[in-house]
Amino acid sequence: MLQIKNLSVSYGAIEAVKNISLTVNDGEIVSLIGANGAGKTTTLHTITGLTPAVSGEVLFNGVDLLKTPNNKIVTLGMAHIPEGRHVFTRMSVQENLEMGAFSLKDRSHMADDLAMVFDMFPRLKERRNQKAGTLSGGEQQMLAMGRALMSHPNTILMDEPSMGLSPKLVKEIFAIIRKLHDQGITVLLVEQNANMALSIADRAYVLETGRITMEGDAKELMDNEQVRKAYLGA
Ligand code: ATP
Repeated sequence: MLQIKNLSVSYGAIEAVKNISLTVNDGEIVSLIGANGAGKTTTLHTITGLTPAVSGEVLFNGVDLLKTPNNKIVTLGMAHIPEGRHVFTRMSVQENLEMGAFSLKDRSHMADDLAMVFDMFPRLKERRNQKAGTLSGGEQQMLAMGRALMSHPNTILMDEPSMGLSPKLVKEIFAIIRKLHDQGITVLLVEQNANMALSIADRAYVLETGRITMEGDAKELMDNEQVRKAYLGA
């Protein structure tokens, strides 16, 4: 369970996240939607220690992540798939996946883990020896997801997985997120594609200029007049 309590984050004078609280229960998909610059990426970066908080708490199964070195966070079972994917472009697909397992003490299951990822993403298997930089955007997104899975996460933070992808690929990526959910993985999803984000989520939060302005059951938010006007193009 992930609990964010009264979290504030600033970049100098810019208050990017203002006293937000949110919870992600085990096994849930929770979406955080909002316009460009609302503070979504900053929130994910603060959870995994990439950006420092000004105040607040981020509890992951009772451990305060704000006091945990960021290289330890992955060992607690949390993986972060950043916006823009950040695959190692000059390394092969398989080498990128192997990097995902770097935090594991016991790497004897590497072959099984690779087989599990290749089973989920057959396209990565076909391209296992190809340099990651030569993959399409959708394939790089799959690689970033596969790399995260190599660390055996119970919780995944995903930042804009739909970014730059065709509608067909967005559907494919979201089908995989659903599959991860079916396997019991908890997901906190940040998306500008509010339609997809709300249709897949159990619950959602709306972030506007650093503040949470709405929260609730994702299907109910989809029917909410304000959400429809502001985020669903209705
Ligand atoms: P996007 O979808 O564009 O990533 P977002 O909702 O994720 O938007 P953030 O990237 O978290 O929003 O940005 C929140 C605010 O913080 C914005 O005003 C942004 O300009 C500012 N900001 C983000 N990163 C930095 C930084 N490294 N230095 C200064 N200001 C920043």
